[in-house]
Amino acid sequence: MGRIVYFSFPAHGHINPTLPVIRELVRREQPVVYYGTEQFRRVIQDTGAQFRPYSTQFHVPEQGPGPFARVSTTLETLLELSRTILDHHLEQVRMLRPSHIMYDSFAPWGGLVARLLRLPSIASVPSILVNRDIDARYRAGPGIEPEDPRLTPQWYASFRSRCHASLLPYGLPDPPSPPQLLQTYGDLNVVYTSRLFQPMAEAFDGHRFQFVGPCFEFRPEAPPFPFELLDGRPLVLVSLGTVYGNHPQFFRMCLRELADTPWQVVLSGGGNSLTGDLGPVPDNCIVRSWVPQIEILRRCAAFVTHGGMNSVQEALYHGVPLVMAPQAADQFWISARASELGAALVLDPLRMEAGALRGSVAKILGATRYTAAAARIGGSLRAAGGHRRAAGKIHGLIRRGADALAQGSGSSVADWLRRDLALPDVS
Ligand code: UDP
Repeated sequence: MGRIVYFSFPAHGHINPTLPVIRELVRREQPVVYYGTEQFRRVIQDTGAQFRPYSTQFHVPEQGPGPFARVSTTLETLLELSRTILDHHLEQVRMLRPSHIMYDSFAPWGGLVARLLRLPSIASVPSILVNRDIDARYRAGPGIEPEDPRLTPQWYASFRSRCHASLLPYGLPDPPSPPQLLQTYGDLNVVYTSRLFQPMAEAFDGHRFQFVGPCFEFRPEAPPFPFELLDGRPLVLVSLGTVYGNHPQFFRMCLRELADTPWQVVLSGGGNSLTGDLGPVPDNCIVRSWVPQIEILRRCAAFVTHGGMNSVQEALYHGVPLVMAPQAADQFWISARASELGAALVLDPLRMEAGALRGSVAKILGATRYTAAAARIGGSLRAAGGHRRAAGKIHGLIRRGADALAQGSGSSVADWLRRDLALPDVS
């Protein structure tokens, strides 16, 4: 069987859902070479894939309120990272003679390698799919940042020509447009939600975009957690995820508002040790820098979350309703969608009044309709098939490609697939 080369975007929220999918592919004797950063070496190797480190020149700037906070700087960073990958790994990958290139849809270099090697591509999409209509529908949501002031037509024109000049030397005559850099879809796209949760799902080709639901069955190395302290009171998890988790001010507010309530609270710093910054921790709260999130969610009554895609899907899968405090990027769309489907209340983190968080948690816990909506979405997520279906679809693509070649279709597999799977306009 041919070999898949996978290009990751090195962040928990991007790598986590791929782990069970890759493990299942390896179990089906599909060879996979997985590029990532050293931080993720062990979890990637645990899937059975062959780990390859990105060049030391590949340096992802701090996320959060940094270069990824604005669309213009995100585009510039993605272009720079793409050049680094092409410089350091394109020839290496060519020598591996892969049959398919797989990549995170936020890792445009994967799509570029696929095009340059004229190979079929598979994208792992760790968010909802977004097109212009979806963006417009949710643009006025609570807390949405003002437009990036740098995004003028002049800036776009200059970025496009920089993009062109950067990528032409590698043999790419038509560089991706800015929206394509932000979301590089492939011949096949594995999306970790259900058609029910995806807004305007009908706008996306049903063969090319496969909604498989969240994939979290393989999470090596869960840290110990004192489950014996959970005593049956309604449990509320608080987390801003791994990228926006270093937010002591928000967490202090959470502890203040959730103290002296009939609920038990678990607060995760998403990898940041916050204890020193938070002051005294109320009796009904447990603070940890990292928690086994899936195991906690199984026991939860509500989840205060930033609206990261994984966190939201993991919670809804378990029928847990949400109080959402989106911080940036796709979190606004995801929060708006969860609220539209009745499973969430969305706070405006820029204009939050005292008592708003406590009131929202009380409202979510006090009315059955939020839990009922979360359970309905959860049903759709469980029915979506998870990592086995994702691996099955990927295998199906690989088999179809091999059949097409065996029949001597006369064109490359990539051409054959592109012709057959109509590409919707997602720009
Ligand atoms: N996570 C975890 N324990 C923690 C905090 C986060 O296991 O204490 C996991 C969580 O289950 C999810 C991922 O980290 O899979 C965070 O991804 P998400 O897309 O929700 O947010 P991001 O960190 O990308 O903003």
